[in-house]
Amino acid sequence: MVTKKKPANTPVCSSCNEPAVVCQRQSHRNLCSTHFIREVEERFFLTVEKSRLIRSGDRIAVALSGGKDSTALLLLLSRHLQKWQDVSLIAITVDEGIKGYREETIRAAERVAEKIGVKHQIISFQDLFSDNLDALLKGRETQACTICGILRKKALIEGAKKVRATKIATGHNLDDEAQSVLMNVLRGDLPRLVRDSTVETSGCFIPRIKPLAELSEKEIASYLYVRGMFLTLPECPYTKFALRAEVRSMLSGLEHRNPGTMLRLMESQKKIEKYLGGTMFSRSLRRCRQCGDPCSGDLCQVCRLRQSLG
Ligand SMILES: [Zn+2]
Ligand SMILES: [Zn+2]
Repeated sequence: MVTKKKPANTPVCSSCNEPAVVCQRQSHRNLCSTHFIREVEERFFLTVEKSRLIRSGDRIAVALSGGKDSTALLLLLSRHLQKWQDVSLIAITVDEGIKGYREETIRAAERVAEKIGVKHQIISFQDLFSDNLDALLKGRETQACTICGILRKKALIEGAKKVRATKIATGHNLDDEAQSVLMNVLRGDLPRLVRDSTVETSGCFIPRIKPLAELSEKEIASYLYVRGMFLTLPECPYTKFALRAEVRSMLSGLEHRNPGTMLRLMESQKKIEKYLGGTMFSRSLRRCRQCGDPCSGDLCQVCRLRQSLG
């Protein structure tokens, strides 16, 4: 009897026998585009529901950089919210003023918001801090990500206040979160390691949510690819200076050889947070003497930074 041989190296979907587009190394499952999309969306919805990230009446400001993560975030949120009549989305793009990088990503953000049908606002460092990031950094390029991070957070809060948002959603994925945990360990920053970053205590009373935190960078990129929304954009020129770049390459090597490493790292962090968070490092909130924003010390991070930048 002659059996018709399947061509070699064409895996099929573990759920339906269609050609697979994705192989999940941790669970040893192959998925076709339909089942992969379904799986990613179901896991996203589950994250949102189990932690009750969204409530009736919410107006969510989505931080839209124009890159992959924030594009996927806006797309997944808009799909998830189809069944919520009284929750609205508004996309906010922070223009730091990074030459050769931001111009193109802003155009990408505008196109994405238009395609998904979500209102879009741009808020710039120039308007908020009277200078762009390139000028503010002069000679401090090695601290670019720290400085930019503080200012961008402030810009996002101001943008969210302006549109009267009740929540800020950011596109942090599993890789970002795992990198942050490891970086806090490497820096010996225990308070930051056990602080729940979604409960904002420094500078903002608008809660921050991270609905992508359980999806990996690879899954997000694949999701956009099969949904026909994958884009290649320039990378921020400052990332090469960051400790994060080293941690990122180390973690992705570990994840490749030991699938599930990042998830286990996040589980460890949650356990440590459960035992230590809130007890050891609870801080009382004060007001910044310069700008009045809530903060833990005398001056808020932004005012301290602006003072040091002169
Ligand atoms: Zn399938
Ligand atoms: Zn301040």
